[in-house]
Amino acid sequence: MSVVIVGAGLAGATVAETLRERGFDGDIVLFGSEQHLPYERPPLSKAVLLGEKEPDSATVHDQAWWREHDVDVRTGIEVQSVDLAGRRVMTTAGEQPYEWLVLATGSEPRRLRMAEESGRPVHYLRTVEDSLALREALTEGTKVAIVGAGWIGLEVAAAARLAGAEVRVLETAELPLLAVLGPEVAQHFADLHRSHGVDLRLGADVTAEDLGDADLVVVGIGAAPRTALAEGAGLDVDGGVLVDELLRTSDDHVLAVGDIASEQHPVLGRRVRVEHWDNAIGQGKAAAATILGASEPYDRMPYFFTDQYDLGMEYWGHVGPDGYDRVLTRGDFSGPFRAWWVRGDTVVAAMQANDWDASDEMRASVGHPPPED
Ligand SMILES: Cc1cc2nc3c(=O)[nH]c(=O)nc-3n(C[C@H](O)[C@H](O)[C@H](O)COP(=O)(O)OP(=O)(O)OC[C@H]3O[C@@H](n4cnc5c(N)ncnc54)[C@H](O)[C@@H]3O)c2cc1C
Repeated sequence: MSVVIVGAGLAGATVAETLRERGFDGDIVLFGSEQHLPYERPPLSKAVLLGEKEPDSATVHDQAWWREHDVDVRTGIEVQSVDLAGRRVMTTAGEQPYEWLVLATGSEPRRLRMAEESGRPVHYLRTVEDSLALREALTEGTKVAIVGAGWIGLEVAAAARLAGAEVRVLETAELPLLAVLGPEVAQHFADLHRSHGVDLRLGADVTAEDLGDADLVVVGIGAAPRTALAEGAGLDVDGGVLVDELLRTSDDHVLAVGDIASEQHPVLGRRVRVEHWDNAIGQGKAAAATILGASEPYDRMPYFFTDQYDLGMEYWGHVGPDGYDRVLTRGDFSGPFRAWWVRGDTVVAAMQANDWDASDEMRASVGHPPPED
């Protein structure tokens, strides 16, 4: 039995690792177009960008581990097409047959032409190389314009301020992170950044003029799933590769995991595509189980975390298209803080900030009645 995995990111690596952990003794080939062994991306906008850690610390396993576990990791090789009928992939280094194929091609930053045409250096943040280039550019007194007040934009803003740069953040929404957190909690993030000296400009279309006299521009306006390979093969794709709760695509021998997978979530009862670290691991494990013939639906609630300045926060759940009726909060945003987004009589999402002992309780609160007002 042979498994070919396309994409040597966290999701792809987790599939390979789990297969070996659970006793799979067939061939495993893991193709990655980057030159690196699989690594985790969250530190790229946090400890690595801050200069506290080097990229090596984010590596999932070293070369010796992959060799010892007999996983053939082929870095620097891109899979160019998939032949579903012939069960083989065509790569920049020849073709490879499979019995099971796992697509884990991740996502890539959305580009902003206005910034690219502004004549200034433009940074995106997805890879080790991006992080190191940005780290070098963030120096005392540098004027940095960041387009997009999402997770990446805000984490870069925090790193830039800590490096002594002058930071302007430009966002079309009325508040940072508004779509995810709603106005009640998003306001706290606006206050946090302003209190650290960020010039946060909200609620208007961003034009070249808004970049002011910036020395460099960082674009953090979201990422797009890399679905071209799946589409080219003829798999069902609609804003992500469509998979069921066992991560199976529209082809019996092909699975998809991580950022690209649009999963029919068994608990939420709708499709969700989650671009977060925990999802890459969880779906990777569940896909390995599917290959092994075990039926282990991936039913975890979406989860993510962020670190900005001294704030560390975690968030569980998914508010979704039906929204929420009210938000309950406890504590002060600068100290231990908890929030619950409630619809009807049910918590649909929960978060903690600087209250790490609360993690288990907050995770468990999703799907249940809220705490007393
Ligand atoms: C800077 C940054 C910070 C983040 N911080 C957080 C955080 O704090 N919390 C959180 O929950 N999440 C965070 N995330 C999101 C998290 O890192 C992603 O959800 C996760 O990396 C997804 O893993 P993946 O394996 O699906 O995709 P990826 O990590 O994108 O890996 C996919 C890999 O596949 C390769 N590939 C693509 N196409 C091909 C092909 N045709 N052939 C061969 N290889 C191919 C790509 O080069 C890439 O290496 C962050 C992401 C970034 C970029």
